[in-house]
Amino acid sequence: MSTFQAPKGTYDLIPPDSAKFLAVREAISAPLRDSGYGYIETPGFENVELFARGVGESTDIVTKEMYTLTTKGGDQLALRPEGTASVLRAALEANLHKAGNLPVKLWYSGSYYRYERPQKGRYRHFSQVGAEAIGTEDPVLDAELIILADQAYRSLGLRQFRILLNSLGDKECRPVYRDALQTFLRDLDLDEETRRRIEINPLRVLDDKRADVQKQLTDAPRLRDYLCDACKAYHEEVRALLTAAGVVYEDDEKLVRGLDYYTRTTFEFVHDGLGSQSAVGGGGRYDGLSEMIGGPALPSVGWALGVDRTVLALEAEGVELDLPVTTSVYAVPLGDEARRALFAVVTGLRRAGVAADFAFGGRGLKGAMKSANRSGARYTLVAGERDLAEGVVQLKDMESGEQTAVALADVVAELTTRLG
Ligand code: ATP
Ligand code: MG
Repeated sequence: MSTFQAPKGTYDLIPPDSAKFLAVREAISAPLRDSGYGYIETPGFENVELFARGVGESTDIVTKEMYTLTTKGGDQLALRPEGTASVLRAALEANLHKAGNLPVKLWYSGSYYRYERPQKGRYRHFSQVGAEAIGTEDPVLDAELIILADQAYRSLGLRQFRILLNSLGDKECRPVYRDALQTFLRDLDLDEETRRRIEINPLRVLDDKRADVQKQLTDAPRLRDYLCDACKAYHEEVRALLTAAGVVYEDDEKLVRGLDYYTRTTFEFVHDGLGSQSAVGGGGRYDGLSEMIGGPALPSVGWALGVDRTVLALEAEGVELDLPVTTSVYAVPLGDEARRALFAVVTGLRRAGVAADFAFGGRGLKGAMKSANRSGARYTLVAGERDLAEGVVQLKDMESGEQTAVALADVVAELTTRLG
């Protein structure tokens, strides 16, 4: 193993590609920031108990994918595998739900860790941007979140994604369905692990990707037939609101999602250009989670969008992001005196809000001009002893190739005007 190798299942974000990740995080969070969601940041690790209770003892995340550790002080911690449990924990700890302003609307962005089998689009360290709306049961809120995610993806230029939508019922109707499903599943020909899953979390069996399992599920009882009137009406309202907003979705009654805490509205964003790791984001309503982690009843809804897979989706669709210019002006000094003079100009440009860079290390004209080209700068400033003696610098427009001498004292103002 080389010392310079990132751990298995991880990769580094390096320029210029790292700019895409920043742009994606920015684009996903922009609609949230414009919709009353406040930024929240929680630690990268939590007490392991939070996830065991909040994500669910029967989920792959908790049983197989969590990075757990015991600290020198004996605390049992886990690197966060997802965001919702932490955000809810933090909101409860800060009593945000008691400020009389429900829902508490929060957004976050950060790193998540899951011990998974690494493959394209599936990593052990990945990043998500997420949103949670805590403390309110209102179909408009479910619709709002789905609409904002759709808006985020569209603003990035993505088109080949689909929204899958389902309702998982609530604490009235879901248990009745669960019983019926268990009775059906127990009669099937399934392996030991799946039989165990029937007892702990039978809905997850519906999500099994294996063809021989899916074949046996054709006649499984359908959740749709068991939804209580309240859940049905709620779901119809969410659907109607999405339709009214012009958001296209597909009803997918097999959509159950990996986490234990979802109730009612459940959705996933899938992208058709990504192969088997097709989910770019997902979320839903989690009315019971607060009580599961020891808080009061706080019906809530949220989503998390995967930044890594969103970048892959952009590449799959061939979308070129309109990335901000990193360097507008590049300064090339010839000689020591020019170095001081041009560095002062660069400092002045930066203070005036113009992105500027400099040929460091006393390089020759040829090499420095290559760097100027590579920087993508629209303008280059070149100055040697003779220019300085005349009190000017050479300003070159890299697009037209046109070069003009500009008085040293005027160059910041001249460039600020030209760059608008
Ligand atoms: P999958 O079914 O692909 O395992 P998931 O249901 O476990 O996804 P969520 O917990 O809903 O995923 O997380 C939301 C989003 O985070 C996913 O849609 C995906 O874009 C991203 N994500 C989840 N796990 C990973 C991972 N290991 N590597 C990269 N992105 C991930
Ligand atoms: Mg997963």
